[in-house]
Amino acid sequence: MLIGVPKEIKNHEYRVGLTPAGVKELIRNGHKVLVQTLAGGGIGFPDDQYRAAGAEIASDAASVFAKAEMIIKVKEPQPEECKMLRPGQILFTYLHLAPDPEQTRGLIDSGAIAIAYETVTDARGGLPLLAPMSEVAGRMAIQAAAHCLEKAQGGSGVLLGGVPGVAPGKVSVIGGGVVGINAARMAMGLGAEVSILDRSLPRLKELDMIFGGRLKTLYSTEDAIENELAGADAVIGAVLVPGAAAPKLVRREQLKLMKPGSVLVDVAIDQGGCFETSRATTHQNPTYGVDGITHYCVANMPGGVARTSTLALTNATLPFALALANRGWKQALLDDVHLRNGLNICRGNVTYEAVAHDLGYDY
Ligand code: NAD
Repeated sequence: MLIGVPKEIKNHEYRVGLTPAGVKELIRNGHKVLVQTLAGGGIGFPDDQYRAAGAEIASDAASVFAKAEMIIKVKEPQPEECKMLRPGQILFTYLHLAPDPEQTRGLIDSGAIAIAYETVTDARGGLPLLAPMSEVAGRMAIQAAAHCLEKAQGGSGVLLGGVPGVAPGKVSVIGGGVVGINAARMAMGLGAEVSILDRSLPRLKELDMIFGGRLKTLYSTEDAIENELAGADAVIGAVLVPGAAAPKLVRREQLKLMKPGSVLVDVAIDQGGCFETSRATTHQNPTYGVDGITHYCVANMPGGVARTSTLALTNATLPFALALANRGWKQALLDDVHLRNGLNICRGNVTYEAVAHDLGYDY
């Protein structure tokens, strides 16, 4: 199969759908890969590395879309990309169609077979192609919090790890899923005092088994959250209620419980945010203050560490890309119910129930 990798065109998007190592694997399996020039240039994968891996370099997106049988990307196709897709061509990327009627229409009109990373499942009920980005965001949340606590950033001047003879800072993580455990692990690594709150007792038990006494686990009630607000230097919002907007777990009047210069990092901002005072920010302008509390609410945190994010994402996508290329999309989807769950649009039809329901298409 001929696989095409266009350069991402969304503002400040430096991730890329395949690394040179991924190209090599596909070529070893008898496929051909066409990579748009500079597709990985922003994150240390120059064209020469792709060439050395066996890829051909295309001068523009149009030739990648025109020739490839499968397009592998990161972000959802932009309107000009939808127009370049053709009937029967496979598109394998993040789509997030439910809130995006324009893209959905574009993909229906293209006649392409669109498989969305975010709805591919695994045997444990997880979302294996979303998890790597949650791992990145969780770890990054602590880096962001530590930076925001510095005086020059308007913070309280606390060093999360403390030093010998000086107590460490306190981090409270609300939500103990993929983001939460990664944030907790990173904060513990820095030497901070860490607590984690969740509504799932089985999850709290699991976290307790993993970390023992080093991590304080708390059942998430309003009282527990208020107690944490009073003691924390940084509070990380990492909750998810599947299929729903994030619940607002901290109201504006509760900010006065916090120490001045403390930090709220709302990782759940892509689902509307779990603090009442959160509003989405960008890497260019990541923070703002409300009542003396710094808010960091970047909606696309993994984009800030695009090289690590690309490597983490492509580790997870490559086995599926290989299955699609080796067996063809029909057989690959028949063979694997989890990959089949990724099919969102097929030859002009919406094939993912939640998207059809939300946007009013037949299913
Ligand atoms: P997850 O499903 O692995 O974990 C969510 C956890 O929240 C679960 O353990 C659940 O029990 C818990 N929870 C639900 N309601 C709660 C409550 N009231 N109090 C405490 N815990 C509660 O999800 P995840 O992968 O960790 O993602 C968390 C959030 O981070 C999601 O909103 C996701 O979209 C977001 N995210 C954002 C970025 C970004 O760049 N901003 C990147 C990745 C993920």
